[in-house]
Amino acid sequence: MSDFDLVVIGGGVTGAGVARDAALRGLRVCLLERGQPGGGTTAASTHLIHGGVRYLLYDRLTTHSSCWDAGHIVRTAGELLTRLPIVWPVYKGHSRGLETVETLLEQYDRFQPMKYGRPHLRLTAEAALRVVPGLSPEGLLGALVFDEWWVDAEALARRTLDSARAAGAEVLLETPVTSVLKDGARVTGVSAGGRDLLGAITVNAAGPWIDKVSTLAGVRMPLRLMKGTHLIYREKALSPVGLLLEAEDRSRYVFVVPSPLGTWVGPTDMPGPLDPDLTRTTDEEIGYLTRSVKRYFASWPEKHDATIVGSRPILGQPGAEKLLSRDFEVFDHEERDGVAGFLTIGGGKMSDYRVMAEAAVDAACRKLGAGGPCRTHLLTLEGKPVGEIPDWPQPSPDLKKFLRTKPLLRELHSLSYLGAGMASHLARRAAGLIPIGDEAEFRRRYA
Ligand SMILES: Cc1cc2nc3c(=O)[nH]c(=O)nc-3n(C[C@H](O)[C@H](O)[C@H](O)COP(=O)(O)OP(=O)(O)OC[C@H]3O[C@@H](n4cnc5c(N)ncnc54)[C@H](O)[C@@H]3O)c2cc1C
Repeated sequence: MSDFDLVVIGGGVTGAGVARDAALRGLRVCLLERGQPGGGTTAASTHLIHGGVRYLLYDRLTTHSSCWDAGHIVRTAGELLTRLPIVWPVYKGHSRGLETVETLLEQYDRFQPMKYGRPHLRLTAEAALRVVPGLSPEGLLGALVFDEWWVDAEALARRTLDSARAAGAEVLLETPVTSVLKDGARVTGVSAGGRDLLGAITVNAAGPWIDKVSTLAGVRMPLRLMKGTHLIYREKALSPVGLLLEAEDRSRYVFVVPSPLGTWVGPTDMPGPLDPDLTRTTDEEIGYLTRSVKRYFASWPEKHDATIVGSRPILGQPGAEKLLSRDFEVFDHEERDGVAGFLTIGGGKMSDYRVMAEAAVDAACRKLGAGGPCRTHLLTLEGKPVGEIPDWPQPSPDLKKFLRTKPLLRELHSLSYLGAGMASHLARRAAGLIPIGDEAEFRRRYA
């Protein structure tokens, strides 16, 4: 007899989502987190609930599905979110010009309504300088604006766990799982905090630590961990709006995110150590981020106040680093490795944590032969009904999964939309059909 239907390892946003989903379906759940809710990668994220504009360049279906789940997060956790307009200034000599950036944002506009995003806006250089005082005017051609949601990421994990607890889940914090219990080829639970916790199914939701945790059960989870550092400036609004700035290497971009937690600049994106506990910020990253932001502001502070680093839990896959898919997958270790009673949920982003949890709990319910339908999109974290949910077509999960293993085909798939979009954009621009906004329009649109 198990104490629980589900034992969940990891109290980041993903594990919290799994515990909430399972508890709302009436399952007996216990979650173990070695530290505090969201204290791992979740806390080190850029804190954006977004679809990922840059994935439109090589992983369009992930942008699509993330925007859809982001919409659910807006409905269920709305009071933790703040609309963040993001200005993308374009200068002479930048690797992407105004028309290319605007084509990208026109494509993003197609998905934005799923998450209550507003249509993009193009600003003249003069208007951009009024919206972002202190921005360097030299060589500025204009700017594009789009919006995302800023979220207090640790609060999102904490409140999701509160919701799980309210639905009956047991949550043990500061309780590292030290071993996975097995009876022959079946996982029967975990040892943690001096207790054995028996579960019919154990779910490994340990973010970038999923390989370390699965190793305890005798199976491996190959990952392509990419580390990311942010600089933190205590001053909350060094810029009055978010910014997306071409970085000094001209191939990447860094965000500037004003927030109640300070102004964050980052992230970097580079291969990290296989063990997330060994991930550290380097002087090279600090220099890169500092120079990348200071090129745009004559009076940017000399020194940041803190740094934060985390490992993106990207699934093992072929292809170049810049083409890595952020898609997620649920692994049934009985099918994959012959180890029963054990599931891993890996990959993904904070912005699709709810649908990741749904997929993991669907898989657990199929194995248990118990549990009702998913309800996490129907109730707010406080347990109130969310109201009407608009209907949007979703990309085929099979196509998404197929394209994850074919990086060049995935890039071609995405670029074909951008190519067609660019042709249409240039024709409409030449015919004078696309307006250019001013500061007043900016304030109206993103208020
Ligand atoms: C630099 C950076 C920027 C990002 N920006 C964004 C963004 O803006 N928007 C977005 O949507 N996504 C973003 N992401 C991705 C996003 O942060 C992650 O996909 C998401 O937070 C992962 O959540 P998680 O719960 O899976 O992992 P984590 O938050 O890492 O949670 C895993 C938990 O498992 C716990 N754990 C590990 N081992 C054990 C054990 N043995 N016993 C018990 N507990 C254990 C850890 O303590 C940890 O709390 C970013 C990632 C990085 C690195």
